[in-house]
Amino acid sequence: MDGGTSVTTPPSVSVAEHALFLDVDGTLLDIADTPDAVAASAELCAVLKRLEPRLSGALALVSGRPIADIDAIFTPLRLAVAGLHGLERRDAAHHIHHARSDGGLDDIKATLQTFVEGHDGALLEDKRVSLALHYRQAPGAEADARELAQSLIAERDDLHMLAGKMVFEIKPIHVDKGVAIDRFMEEPPFAGRIPIFVGDDVTDEDGFSAVNARDGVSIRVGPRTQTNARHRIVNVRSVIEWLANIM
Ligand SMILES: [Mg+2]
Repeated sequence: MDGGTSVTTPPSVSVAEHALFLDVDGTLLDIADTPDAVAASAELCAVLKRLEPRLSGALALVSGRPIADIDAIFTPLRLAVAGLHGLERRDAAHHIHHARSDGGLDDIKATLQTFVEGHDGALLEDKRVSLALHYRQAPGAEADARELAQSLIAERDDLHMLAGKMVFEIKPIHVDKGVAIDRFMEEPPFAGRIPIFVGDDVTDEDGFSAVNARDGVSIRVGPRTQTNARHRIVNVRSVIEWLANIM
């Protein structure tokens, strides 16, 4: 961690170039005594509602709460959101993506098994921690195998696919707020923009690292502390004022 470079001036935001990722509790909302006692103010909802179209939809909430909680807090807004630190995610097109904390592959294995039984020469290798679909002996099955493997991971944010020599391998990855931001950044309307992430807590550090790796802007809310974030905003009130002033 690198607390030494943190600066206190919030960066200027270009609505044409940036994508905005915002933690919720402690960033947009003051921490409540009981977590279910919080609700977004009309002012905050109005700011977010105005910002989303100005950013061409490149605005997402990234929270430890479930998506259902977030929707209740920000009702009637339905924003792109990662909930449960990325274990569930609603993209900008409102498609839901899930990750499993155990990275389980059983359901995917069953589908791949059915595929190899229907394609002579195709072979499924169960490596315990990953699944490899080989088509060396079934080169005509490549397109179908690729399409199947991609469709199986499309809604699972905890899996990725590696294309090897005549093989597609599906592997789990650990999901955190940084991975959730990376997933958004692979999709429209986020792709091609510069990410900004604002958070206040230890679980936001993965998000700061993810945006730093993309030459983005990392902002930690609160008093000076050891952090990967390169900018600082002093409190929730200042975050909302900063957002309200984005032209
Ligand atoms: Mg927070």
